[in-house]
Amino acid sequence: MNPMVAAYIGIGANLGNAALTVREALTALQQLPLTQLSASSSLYGSAPVDAGGDDFVNAVARLDTHMGAETLLAELQKIELTFGRERPFRNAPRTLDLDLLLYGQDEIHSVRLEVPHPRMTARAFVLLPLLQIAPDLQIPGKGVASDFLPGLQDQRIWQLPVSRQDLA
Ligand code: AMP
Repeated sequence: MNPMVAAYIGIGANLGNAALTVREALTALQQLPLTQLSASSSLYGSAPVDAGGDDFVNAVARLDTHMGAETLLAELQKIELTFGRERPFRNAPRTLDLDLLLYGQDEIHSVRLEVPHPRMTARAFVLLPLLQIAPDLQIPGKGVASDFLPGLQDQRIWQLPVSRQDLA
């Protein structure tokens, strides 16, 4: 078995009931083999960046996992498929998008996988929820995560109210 690693997953949805999709995605992450969901951020709303359609709902989850990075990516893609994601064109609106943001302190450059996720420090909808659950995070090869926030002030993002489901 692989050693346990803390992996951070970016979650985004902007079709249908996007908030419900994000909550269900968190449940799906919780059910992954060899894995514990050890933290999840609030849900955030964000205006689309380089994408059409409605506002997005975003969140970030931390998984403590014994899965390798490539296996974890394959599991994330399976979850995306179960949510019926269709990709007719690049940056099309999506039912559910799951990104592997960080896998421990690893830097991975393979055909299928770039970790740390190359755009994570440029997107407020990733960085804000990430910092909520990991305020002191270091991003391998990039430095202190919170240092990137001031550059993202012009991106619209807002925290969604806690739903009764979250309190149940
Ligand atoms: P997207 O449509 O933006 O979700 O991108 C999906 C594609 O990006 C897949 O082919 C993945 O193999 C690739 N990819 C590369 N690095 C990552 C990453 N860190 N997390 C998720 N997908 C990745």
